[in-house]
Amino acid sequence: MADAPGERSDPRDRAARLRDRIERWNHEYYVLDSPSVPDAEYDRAFRELQDLERDHPELATDDSPTQRVGAAPQAGFGSVRHAIPMLSLNNAFDDDEVLAFDRRASELLGDLLPPDAQIDYCGELKYDGLALSLRYEGGRLVSAATRGDGSTGEDVTANVRTIRAVPLRLRGAAPALIEVRGEALMYKADFERMNARQRASGEREFVNPRNAAAGSLRQLDPAMTAARPLRFFAYGVGELDGAAEPETHAGLLDWLVALGLPVGAERRVLRGPQALLGFYREMQSGRARLPYDIDGVVYKVDRLAWHERLGFVARAPRFAIAHKFPAEEAVTELLDIEIQV
Ligand code: NAD
Repeated sequence: MADAPGERSDPRDRAARLRDRIERWNHEYYVLDSPSVPDAEYDRAFRELQDLERDHPELATDDSPTQRVGAAPQAGFGSVRHAIPMLSLNNAFDDDEVLAFDRRASELLGDLLPPDAQIDYCGELKYDGLALSLRYEGGRLVSAATRGDGSTGEDVTANVRTIRAVPLRLRGAAPALIEVRGEALMYKADFERMNARQRASGEREFVNPRNAAAGSLRQLDPAMTAARPLRFFAYGVGELDGAAEPETHAGLLDWLVALGLPVGAERRVLRGPQALLGFYREMQSGRARLPYDIDGVVYKVDRLAWHERLGFVARAPRFAIAHKFPAEEAVTELLDIEIQV
């Protein structure tokens, strides 16, 4: 990010400027579904603010974007309170950060992890879409909500009912209550076709499939959402009642498949940090062949009972991390020039 002369010299000013920028970008991204900077630019500013707040704890504030998730729900939608918060993920941008994540998790697990044993993780794709929580009672879809600010999301039930990939009824022996968490997204080819139609009819084009998915889902008229080619992949569970939780995250994903939910096929149990890095490289090299965008992979400690011991920090769990793919720098540098403030 470009700095005004002398800007870096005063950490307080620098932090204030970064917060202003990040708040503005959050509004464009989460509320308007229309970002003006690439994600890599956002991630750099966010990381710089985190580093500043770590090095100067007196500058940290409760309302800093580093402490919060997403954005408050928008007027026009009913709101849904998440009994179990929908959080973000911490990011690793290089191998060393993944190794540090694994070391820290091993330390925190302490005696739970047998001596010299390595942690099993479940590796998954990081879908570049919009988080959804689907609530099934007695096997029937009763409500669907966006993540919102993590505690309260937007009620998008009528819209989600139009997504064909989302089952209205679960298969088999469904639990009394299950909240399925996952990502709504748009396939790349569907996005291109939709944008061509928008262009032809003189309507607003979307920047990328992620923002097209978010904009399509957050329509006040469900008929508009129905006309948009949305998909869904499940990656976790929130509230659960009337069934025992499987012992592992990989087992949980298999159970979701058995209940009739779409779960990405690219998932694997990985033992120890070197296996994580191998999975990352494999997914990175196959990324272009996927029909949808991913912006990295996610590693989650596989044993669900250990999640409680590892806990959470601010806006993200300590039992999972997103390992992001490097940005396409050519685009970023071009935009760097445009966003100088
Ligand atoms: P995030 O999107 O980086 O990570 C958390 C989210 O990942 C979860 O909420 C979930 O929806 C999603 N996810 C996808 N696959 C998953 C899986 N397999 N398991 C678990 N979760 C999975 O974090 P965020 O807090 O939603 O947003 C921050 C990111 O959004 C930034 O890093 C940036 O890339 C982007 N952003 C960009 C702008 C911009 O102006 N360009 C503005 C705001 C945010």
